[in-house]
Amino acid sequence: MNPHIHANARRDRLRAKLAQDGVDAYLISGVANVTYLTGFKGEASHLVVSKNKDILVSDARFTEQIKNECPGLEAIIRPPTKKTLDMVAEAIRSIKALSIGFECQVLTVSDFESLKELLPECSWLATRERVETQRMVKEPIEIEAIRAAIQMAQDAFVSLNKSLMPSQTEKNVADELERLMRSMGAQCAAFPIIVAAGLNAALPHAIPSQHCIGNESLLLVDWGASSPSGYKSDLTRVLDTHNFSKTSGQVESKDKLRKIYSVVQKAQKAAFDAIKPGVKALDVDRAARQLIAEAGFGEYFGHGLGHGIGLQIHEAPWLRPGSETVLEPGMVFTLEPGIYLPGWGGVRIEDNILVTSSGAQYLTGISRELDDNIIA
Ligand code: ZN
Ligand code: ZN
Repeated sequence: MNPHIHANARRDRLRAKLAQDGVDAYLISGVANVTYLTGFKGEASHLVVSKNKDILVSDARFTEQIKNECPGLEAIIRPPTKKTLDMVAEAIRSIKALSIGFECQVLTVSDFESLKELLPECSWLATRERVETQRMVKEPIEIEAIRAAIQMAQDAFVSLNKSLMPSQTEKNVADELERLMRSMGAQCAAFPIIVAAGLNAALPHAIPSQHCIGNESLLLVDWGASSPSGYKSDLTRVLDTHNFSKTSGQVESKDKLRKIYSVVQKAQKAAFDAIKPGVKALDVDRAARQLIAEAGFGEYFGHGLGHGIGLQIHEAPWLRPGSETVLEPGMVFTLEPGIYLPGWGGVRIEDNILVTSSGAQYLTGISRELDDNIIA
């Protein structure tokens, strides 16, 4: 499978939107958007897409990489004496584009002001999510890349669980998990890994500390791999470490963990069952949120239900209240309901889901049962 053929077809799909927006060209500045449309994995570059011609504007760090990753694509390489925006202006002038759609959620105000000065003859249209909506529905080659990123993350997690020691700190565990993912083929972790023991798990985005995991009766791990192709996975599991820890009052705490875990698990299942093409993202969020609220924990689920994954760890579609996105086959996103109780801890269960023609499919395969996640 030749990746640049995919990139050409993706640019053609974007090109088809020029007429709708009534512009001569798009200026694409989002790093993941440029990668998606060209196959180029570097950064700090812009892509001009017009009716007849596409031009990648980059700098000399990437000359060779661009030749390898984007054969056939015209590139303007900035010399050290020039600014990138000067070259962007040159690219736009060379194709005689007079109206430009730019990515208003990406381009900085400062860069926009400079471009207006450099190109006084041009008119500018602020556009939103022209490429992001394309990226939202994954091609088979992308789904395979996400599956690979999931496999690396899962294999690393299974291996990690065999070697956990009560004396390890949250930070030790996070470091070890990243090392394992890299050894299983990951380029790096998809985001800073969260390892939170006991009370710290009440913070949905806890930073791994020097706190020993053996002092607590639950351990929340939120991790994912970035595959060599740049696609990402994102999972969360809670481990029952009662038999592992030295704390007292474990029976009460164990029952509480079972109860809360079961609510979160049912919420995720309710969301999963609500997924099918044509359903709005907000309805899937609501299915989980309602179940948690009915169990009496509504105020302790303070974040959205899920987010798309792909070249970025957080991307469209967004599953949260108010999200009008209509689900389509090929969308890949997380389902990650959680309950966070200050002074106790938290439970989140996060899996990666593919929307199919008739419903949904779990891409993640490691057990979501608490009984299978007991560390002794
Ligand atoms: Zn996560
Ligand atoms: Zn997530």
